[in-house]
Order: sequence, then structure tokens, then C-alpha cells
Amino acid sequence: MNSREIIELVESAESELKEIFSSIDKTAYFYSEKVLNAMQHNNLSEGCFNETTGYGYNDLGRDTIENIYKEVFSSEDAIVRNQFVSGSHALSVTLFALLRPGDLLLSISGLPYDTLHEVIGIKDNNSSLASFGVRYDQIDLVDDDFDYEKIESYLKNNKVKVIEIQRSKGYSTRKSITIDKIDRVIKLIKSIDKDVIIMIDNCYCEMVERINPIEVGADVVVGSLIKNLGGGLAPNGAYVVGSKNLIELVGERLTLPGEGREVGPTLGVNKQILQGLFFAPSVVASSLKTSILASRVMEKLNYKVSPKYDESRADIVQNIEFNDPDLLIKFVQGIQSGSPVDSNAIPIAWDMPGYSDQVIMAAGSFTQGSSIELSCDGPIRAPYIAYLQGGLTYDYGKLGLIKAIEYMEKN
Ligand SMILES: *Cc1c(COP(=O)(O)O)cnc(C)c1O
Repeated sequence: MNSREIIELVESAESELKEIFSSIDKTAYFYSEKVLNAMQHNNLSEGCFNETTGYGYNDLGRDTIENIYKEVFSSEDAIVRNQFVSGSHALSVTLFALLRPGDLLLSISGLPYDTLHEVIGIKDNNSSLASFGVRYDQIDLVDDDFDYEKIESYLKNNKVKVIEIQRSKGYSTRKSITIDKIDRVIKLIKSIDKDVIIMIDNCYCEMVERINPIEVGADVVVGSLIKNLGGGLAPNGAYVVGSKNLIELVGERLTLPGEGREVGPTLGVNKQILQGLFFAPSVVASSLKTSILASRVMEKLNYKVSPKYDESRADIVQNIEFNDPDLLIKFVQGIQSGSPVDSNAIPIAWDMPGYSDQVIMAAGSFTQGSSIELSCDGPIRAPYIAYLQGGLTYDYGKLGLIKAIEYMEKN
């Protein structure tokens, strides 16, 4: 295919997607109204953009950010900090905050995200939860849904402290978990044991569906600010929202017992975190449209894709299955070539800390590792899947896709 044919292919795919795109725009409007209201109700003012240094006592902006997050999630409390390196760190801090030696942690969505393996102790590490005597067990998904029967009998026979549910698929071929399934499984869990703490890894899922896990009974929800809610502007950080007593524990673990959430200098990032949240509804919509366009186009090019363009989505991630390491590598390199930063760099697979297989990543982003910006990555293992996500604007997402296909044709 030459460049003109590629553009024709992409535009003909795009013309099939008008209705789907219009429903995405409606969800973006829904969340924009929520964010605007939360900013107004919580008196967001210019003074909130001031920075604190040192201990970070009395940071008006930080408190306002946390109140705004509380309102957007309809949660009792929230902690939103740049002291969380990213989502993985917030997940780790939350697990260490909630679990004590002898406690049992149960994942009901199969193997957790790669960076949690050494946190939990699935992979050996002298600082893991296992090294402190925290036990771990796992129930796999069946046919992309929870194993309701197994969960029921497990909870009747074991005292579980924390149940972890990862919504987005990570580097797997399963489907991401929609809110209706989360709703059903939480009702089941709470009917058997109302004290178990339900913790959701919500990475990539924010503002995709109109209901969030707090609204269906989750106790604590964790996500990354270099993904959806950072809106591409937050330079790092993560959020944890949930019940007041649990968020208090997370604060005590993030900083130190006794000082907890009272400390934490924001060093000037408040404005970026707030403006990022302001843009997030629209940026998530652009990312979703980019993923859906890529799904339709790559399907037309005879690759297996998941989700398909017209399937309902729980997150912004698009899988494209190449069944061939070279094609995967070329596609990822192509996305890099369609990025604004380091477009001349040619990514290669490498041993990334926290991941078991070699991973190749296109990351031509303004913020290092940001995957709400157009990005694409995949572990070098069969069936050689590219995980595509992000797109700060739909036009840049579309251009990135066109350039990736051009690169594949040329190389
Ligand atoms: C990206 C991701 C994480 C980790 O978030 P980072 O901000 O990259 O550390 C955790 N869980 C899931 C499901 C993810 O997709």
C-alpha cells in the first residue's frame, strides 16, 4: 500500500465510526460537567496553584485537589499525590497499608499486573508482602468473567482481608472488566463477608464508563496520573479514593505514621494535576477514539484485534495480535515514528525492571512513560500482541496510526 491508499483505508474506517464516536462525546460531556461542578463546589482558586516545599504543611491546592477527586468519584475520601511515583507505587503503598502479617490477600482477576509480582512476592523479593508474612492466593477468571462459584466457596472457607480486582487486562489476552461485572461480584462478596476490603486497580478505566467502582461498593480504588486522569498534563503521581479509614491508612504508609497526609510538598505540580483533570474527559475520549479507529483499521488489514471496534469497552487499551515478533516490533517502531518526541529513535526490546519478559515500548511522549499519550508496547512473547493506548487528541492519534502503517509498509 502506498501513502494515499493507507489514508483512504483509515478514512473509510473512520466513516463507519460516527455513531460510536458520538456516544463517546456524550460520556466526555457527562464527565466534563462532573469535573467542572467539583471544581466550583470546592472553591478552586488561583491560590491553589501556589507551591509548597519542605514538609508541605497547609497546602491549600493539595487539599482542594483531594476534595475535587472525592466529589468526582463520589467517595468518602481521597489521596492524590506526586509522592506516589506512579500507579504501581500507589498500588504497592495501598497493599502495604491495608495488610498485616498473617493476613490473606486474594486476587479474583487472575495474575495481577507485572509490577505487583515482586510487591506481593509472587516473584521473590526481600521486601515483598510475603517477606512480612502476608499470604496470597488467586482465583482465575473464566471466560473473561469472575469465577463466582469458586469465589463464594473460597470466602466461606477462608478469612480474607483484602480482595484485589484488576480491571484492565495488563499484558494478557483477557477482556478488561466492565463495571456491571464489578457490581455483580461486589454484591456477592459483601453478601458472604461484609468486612473484606475490596480494592480495585482502576488503571486505564477512568472516565470510560459512566459509573465508577466506588459507586458499586468498592472500598478503595487506585489509579495512575500518567494515565487517564492526569489528562497528559500531570507530570507523575497517582490517586487512591475510598473509605475515610482506609485512605487514612494509605496516607500513614505513604509518608510516616503520625504525620500521614499532613505532609507532602507539592513542589508546584498542583496546577498541572488540576488542569490535567480538567482535560481528562476530553483526552480519554480522544484515546478511546484512537483505539477504536486502530481496531477497525487493523481488522481490515486482517489482524486479530481486541476489543473489536463495536464492542463495549472498560478501558482505553487496544490489543492488536501480530503472531510474529518482527511485525510486532515494526508496528511499535512505527508508532514511535508517528510520535512528537524522539520520532527518529528506533525502540528495541529490553529487560524492564518489574517485568518478566523483554518488553518493547514506543514512548514518544512529553512525559516519560506516560501512556495517556499515544503509546504502544508489548512483551516479546507469543502471540506477539501490541497494546496500543492513549492519544492526547484524536487527530494526533489518527496521524500516529497512519504513520505506523506507513512505517510497516516501508520496513
Ligand atoms: C499501567 C498499569 C499499572 C501501573 O501503573 P503505572 O502508572 O504505569 O505504574 C497497574 N495496573 C494496571 C492494570 C496498569 O495498566
